[in-house]
Amino acid sequence: MKSQVQPKLIIHGGAGSSLQGKGGLEAVRRSLHIVIEQVYSLLLCGITASEAVIQGCQMLEDNPRFNAGTGSVLQSDGQIRMSASLMDGALGRFSGVINVSRVKNPIDLAQFLQNSPDRVLSDFGSAELAREMQIPSYNALTDLRLQEWIQERQDNFKSTMANVIAEPELVETSNAGRGTIGVVALDAYGKLAAGTSTGGKGFERIGRVSDSAMPAGNYATKEAGVSCTGIGEDIIDECLAAKIVVRVTDGMSLKDAMQRSFGEAYQNKRDLGAIALDASGAIAWGKTSEILLAAYHNGENIGDTLEWTGDELVGYC
Ligand code: ASP
Repeated sequence: MKSQVQPKLIIHGGAGSSLQGKGGLEAVRRSLHIVIEQVYSLLLCGITASEAVIQGCQMLEDNPRFNAGTGSVLQSDGQIRMSASLMDGALGRFSGVINVSRVKNPIDLAQFLQNSPDRVLSDFGSAELAREMQIPSYNALTDLRLQEWIQERQDNFKSTMANVIAEPELVETSNAGRGTIGVVALDAYGKLAAGTSTGGKGFERIGRVSDSAMPAGNYATKEAGVSCTGIGEDIIDECLAAKIVVRVTDGMSLKDAMQRSFGEAYQNKRDLGAIALDASGAIAWGKTSEILLAAYHNGENIGDTLEWTGDELVGYC
């Protein structure tokens, strides 16, 4: 494959209501920038967009600060069930797992399923696949998540969603935080891919299915790629990732597609965020929630959205 395009990369670590204090902000920034630096240097060395997405998702899943892989939030019954998906835009192929337990990196299962005739597996099938792949059993539970669940249980599960962003004192003392993760990459060959991984909303009903392993939450074509975060039901109702990507694929600019889609989401009072790239190298992000934890590499610099107020719903570079 001939390399001819300036690679681009954008990642997120969730969306939410507050990122209080410098400690929280700087710690989250460091976590995101490390992933950007490492994955972007691999893109420059010639890895494909899908490989970059998998690498980035693994790193974010392994960071207990984020609600994916290690550090996933607990569901109402106190169990962790994770979901992840990968979409290779060049192949136009989506794969994923829904509500898998006891694996370290759910994105690895999504990667394996890219070449399977059955490409989206639910809980039981995902467990069987992990066994077939001989993935060692792994406990993704952290003490902080357990404490949060016990607290929520005492409050009789009043929260609609696990708090997405770590309070600064929690960041400082336990290195924990919250937020689904996602990666969208444009490689040196001009190909796009998107990946998303989550522990879910937190405290949800057993069997609840997240948007993260649906085209509503993660989608890519040859023209654009999007990964979403926020309340999964809102993302599904907007069919956000697929809607933005299809708009670009049908000829709208990424900027217009994001503006229109986030305008609609705002009107509909949704609570969500998304990151996006298109094949021309345009980078965009958007949110209706108060904050979006995203960082990107535009070929020259690393930037992030941590201090972006988002009055205009959508940002670009
Ligand atoms: N979208 C995820 C879900 O609802 C949660 C998140 O993005 O934080 O499962």
